[in-house]
Amino acid sequence: MRDIPAEADVIVIGAGVSGASIGYQLARRSNRRVAVVDARPPVGGISGRTFGQIRQHYSNELMVRMALRGFHCIRNWASEVGYGDPGYVRLGYMLIVTEEQIEGLRRNVELGRRLGVDTRFVGPDEIEAIEPLVNAENLAGGAYEPDGGYIDVTKMVLSWLGAATECGADVLTPLAVQEILVADGAVSGVATDRGEIRAPVVVAATGAWAPDLLEPLGVHVPIERRRLDMATLEQEPGARALQSCITDGNSNLVIRPDMGRRMVAVAYPPEMPPVDDPLADAPLAAHHDHAARLERALAERLPALTMAGIVASISGAYDITPDYHPVLGWAHEIADVDGLYLAVGLSGHGLKLSPCIGEIVASQVLGAEQVGSAPALDAGALRPSRFAEGDLMHLTYGPSARA
Ligand SMILES: Cc1cc2nc3c(=O)[nH]c(=O)nc-3n(C[C@H](O)[C@H](O)[C@H](O)COP(=O)(O)OP(=O)(O)OC[C@H]3O[C@@H](n4cnc5c(N)ncnc54)[C@H](O)[C@@H]3O)c2cc1C
Repeated sequence: MRDIPAEADVIVIGAGVSGASIGYQLARRSNRRVAVVDARPPVGGISGRTFGQIRQHYSNELMVRMALRGFHCIRNWASEVGYGDPGYVRLGYMLIVTEEQIEGLRRNVELGRRLGVDTRFVGPDEIEAIEPLVNAENLAGGAYEPDGGYIDVTKMVLSWLGAATECGADVLTPLAVQEILVADGAVSGVATDRGEIRAPVVVAATGAWAPDLLEPLGVHVPIERRRLDMATLEQEPGARALQSCITDGNSNLVIRPDMGRRMVAVAYPPEMPPVDDPLADAPLAAHHDHAARLERALAERLPALTMAGIVASISGAYDITPDYHPVLGWAHEIADVDGLYLAVGLSGHGLKLSPCIGEIVASQVLGAEQVGSAPALDAGALRPSRFAEGDLMHLTYGPSARA
């Protein structure tokens, strides 16, 4: 096993979408010695358990801008990153709603259009024309993004880590951080299961595990780990296949095509159950409940797909903050610790936002020192202190990862 370095200038803990993107941007924009550390192999956390969907429908300007920027990066990977590719598949994304949610949806479509998202309002007839499997009977309309689709998260993370390595970063996995070291009120490095690495700056990109390392330092970020169950469905040979990514606001069904006759689908429960271990599989009874919810949702909205059988079930945890938005900012806002940056609590939005999160974090960590890049978005609204200040982010559809 290779030795770990005795010191670095910045340590990023986490090699999921967030840590990989941050590690790449830090290495690309500076000459600092960057180390990306993960207790598991890259993509071994929640980023390896996702739906992979990307879309830009959001409820507030900052999230739309972050999703837009993320999408631009995914689409222009060769010029933006220049190493590997994120496996983007363009299928079209449609959020469809009944009367109760139509006003909010129209507002979000307007917001997106104003900021440059290729999106439009579609009525029930057009919904059925775009995706003939949808039963639009009680629908009031939808938001359609022709560029929506999905990505291959493993490819995306490994591409970022490859690019980061080419820019001089050290990717150290598996290497578990046992403690973030603090001396005289400032970060001094990390203690790992193979010794200490000294560094004046540590970025926590530890997803659903964030409270484990932060709480002992007195850094309290309100994050709940809530389990989400997902199923892979397979159509009978010869049966009509789904063509677009569909989110049904009424039944809380999210479904998209996957390889061949397969689809991945989630039917959200009214309340996602809290979990201790983010990677723990759901009990069999929970998978049965999920299957029953899926069946009901499909019967209502995509009746042709009720013939599809479940071939696999998988669970993963959302790291949810009180307003379902990420936390990006220095820990010293909320605790007496300098040099610790928080990029946690992505609340179910991580894939679409991660390219932009890397830019924002690198820009804040490097400050005036960063080279050769346009200024990143101002993400002050996602600061860690917003919860204590009661200045939460806006959600059109209420507490959920939907927008
Ligand atoms: C079922 C499901 C479906 C989803 N679908 C979508 C979707 O379609 N689109 C979308 O945009 N988002 C989706 N999400 C959300 C998205 O997957 C997450 O927001 C994102 O993957 C979080 O990335 P991350 O890098 O913050 O966390 P992770 O990928 O979990 O990475 C954190 C890493 O930190 C490491 N770590 C933690 N503690 C330590 C330690 N002490 N020492 C060393 N390493 C440590 C972990 O091993 C882990 O690899 C989905 C989530 C789930 C659960």
